Amino acid sequence: MTEKLSAEMLQAGENYLRTAERAAEAAIKSPFHQEVTLCAATKTVPPEIINYTASLGLRTMGENRVQELMEKYDELSPSLEKQFIGTLQKNKLKYLVDRVSLIQSLGSLSAAAELERLCSKKNKTMRVLIEINSGREAGKSGILPEELEEFLEKMEAFEHVSVCGLMTIGPICAEKAQIFLIFEETYQLFIDIYRKKHHNIVNPILSMGMSDNFEEAIACGANMIRPGSAIFGRRPPRNQTADNA
Ligand SMILES: *Cc1c(COP(=O)(O)O)cnc(C)c1O
Repeated sequence: MTEKLSAEMLQAGENYLRTAERAAEAAIKSPFHQEVTLCAATKTVPPEIINYTASLGLRTMGENRVQELMEKYDELSPSLEKQFIGTLQKNKLKYLVDRVSLIQSLGSLSAAAELERLCSKKNKTMRVLIEINSGREAGKSGILPEELEEFLEKMEAFEHVSVCGLMTIGPICAEKAQIFLIFEETYQLFIDIYRKKHHNIVNPILSMGMSDNFEEAIACGANMIRPGSAIFGRRPPRNQTADNA
């Protein structure tokens, strides 16, 4: 790390502390009384800024692109738990198996089958969350709520892929009441699955809530949130080629 802290690092540090505090306050106020893991969404954020927030307490980060994760990986603080939250491409899954502790965005059986193949070769287990298309948006990735039960039954065939819970992004809602409804519905789905069909999971994860709505998500039962811009600011978009990397 460079000696001098840049203004950008200091700002990210301050934002991180404020975001963690807001999440803790929301957790105290919520009826669920549970710990909430803050997984910072770190797309386009340079390693030195991520590491600085880690020095202030950040434990978990989520990357969106395999290529970008690989570029940053060696420079990232070993204390950080690295997770994957982006679109899965089957031909790049092999790069994730040794690098991340959790894939939050599993949304197809073909990706699960490829993960099973890779993990059984290495005799290891990959933890995943099933991505739910909670807003039932056309063209959006994820499993529809009504298809989850059948999807989970099929997942049981994959011995080296361990389903640890659900993740959702949710639609962009003009009205707060709308996102509350969607988060509540996703929580209900999560509870139905794990209470009635307990998939051998001790502490199932419900990952929902980003910068604009993580307090609402915590109020609805999320135990993991994924704020990005609230911590790192609005960052310049990457070009299209990098987006697909
Ligand atoms: C970018 C991203 C986030 C963070 O979004 P912000 O609005 O910047 O907080 C969270 N989850 C996923 C899957 C993302 O791609």
